[in-house]
Amino acid sequence: MIVDADLHLHSRFSGATSPKMQMKVLAQESKKKGMHILGTGDCLHPQWIQEIKEGTPHDGLIEIGDTHFLLSTEVEDEHRVHHLLFFPSFSAIEQFRESIHKFTPNMDSDGRPTLHLNGADIALRAKEADALIGPAHAFTPWTAIYAYHDSLESCYGDMVKYLAFLELGLSADTTYADTIHELHRLSFLSNSDSHSPYPVRLAREFNRLQINDYSWDDIKKALLRQGGRKIILNIGLPPQKGKYNQTACIRCYSQYTLLDAETKKWKCPCGGRIKKGVKDRISELATLHSGQHPSHRPSYLYLLPLAEIISHAIGQSSPYTKTVQSRWNELITAFGNEVNVLLDRPIEDINRVTVPVIAEAIQSFREKKIKIYPGGGGKYGEIELPLGEQDQKQNTQKTVFDY
Ligand SMILES: [Zn+2]
Ligand SMILES: [Zn+2]
Repeated sequence: MIVDADLHLHSRFSGATSPKMQMKVLAQESKKKGMHILGTGDCLHPQWIQEIKEGTPHDGLIEIGDTHFLLSTEVEDEHRVHHLLFFPSFSAIEQFRESIHKFTPNMDSDGRPTLHLNGADIALRAKEADALIGPAHAFTPWTAIYAYHDSLESCYGDMVKYLAFLELGLSADTTYADTIHELHRLSFLSNSDSHSPYPVRLAREFNRLQINDYSWDDIKKALLRQGGRKIILNIGLPPQKGKYNQTACIRCYSQYTLLDAETKKWKCPCGGRIKKGVKDRISELATLHSGQHPSHRPSYLYLLPLAEIISHAIGQSSPYTKTVQSRWNELITAFGNEVNVLLDRPIEDINRVTVPVIAEAIQSFREKKIKIYPGGGGKYGEIELPLGEQDQKQNTQKTVFDY
C-alpha cells in the first residue's frame, strides 16, 4: 500500500512551539493534509510520552483515529548538530533514556534535549536501543551536520555505516543533495519539522512510502529499502522557499554571493552577521554535477502550502486570517485533503467550490507560474503569482498519482 508520512515535528514541550501541539489535535489536522503517518516528535520527554501512551499501540506504532504515529525525537549533540531518531517501542525509548541520562541536563524539561555526546556516541547508543538515526535538516547553517562537518564520517566516525537516512531540510531537495557522492547510499527524508499543527506548517514536506502494513518493521524496511518497501516520492517546498536557501544577513536579510560574504568577512553593513546559505554550502561540498542520482532515488515533487496560495490570491496579509482559513476549509471539506486540491482534482471542480481567483492561483501553481523570491538569513522565500508575461510554456507538473 501507498502511504504519506511526515516524520519530524515537535510537541508543545519543545521551545517556540504552539500549545496546540497535542496528540489529538495532530491526529485531526494530519488527516486534512492527507497524512497517514506522523512522527510523534519529542518522545524522550516524560509528559509527552504519557500523552503518546493514550493512543493505541499496534505493531510498534501508536494509533489515534486513522493516524499512525512513529515514536520519534530530535536531539542536539555537543557540537549543536541535530539528529533525528526513530524508536520501535516504549522499552527502546526507556533504554535510550537510561543510556544518555548522565549526559543531558534537560531531557525532562525540553522536548529536544541537548546531549553532551558526539554524533558517534549518540549513534552507538541508538543502535544499542534498536533505534534508527540520521542527520536532521542536514545543510542548515546553525544546527546541522554540514554546518560543522565536511563529511558524514567526521560526525559519526565508525558508526557512519549505521545511518538509516538523511533529512534534507526545507532549503534543500534531492537535486541539491545528490551532488554530494557520499549521500548516494542513503535514503532521503523530506519532513516538515513543524512547530504547529496548522496546515501551513504541518506536512509542508512529507514522504510517500510503499509498505505492506502499518508497522515499525515496514517503516524501517522502507527507510533501508528492504523487502520491496521503499520511499517512492519525496514531496516538499521548492528549496528557494526555505529560510536558509541563500547566503544572507540574519538581521536585515540582504542576500550575498559567497564571494561577497567572504570579502565582507561575514559582516553585513547593517551590523548583522551573514550566514552561509544551504545552496552555497552544498556547492562547496559538491563532488558531482547535478542530476546524477543513484538508481534508487525517488523523484522530488514540489508543493506550496494551499493556505499560502489562497492568501496571495485573495490579497490577505497572512495565511492565518479567518478569511483564508474559511476558504481553505471549504476546499478541504469538498476534496478531502490538500494534495487533492493542489495537484489532483480537475480545476473545473475546484472552480465550482471556491472563487475564480483562487482556482486561477491553483492553476498557476500547477503550471509552475508562481514566482519564488528565495529565502535566506532566517526569512522564508516569498511567492508571487502569477508569473505574468514571462509565461513560458513549461510542462505542467505531474500529478501525485503518476508516481
Ligand atoms: Zn533541528
Ligand atoms: Zn544586514
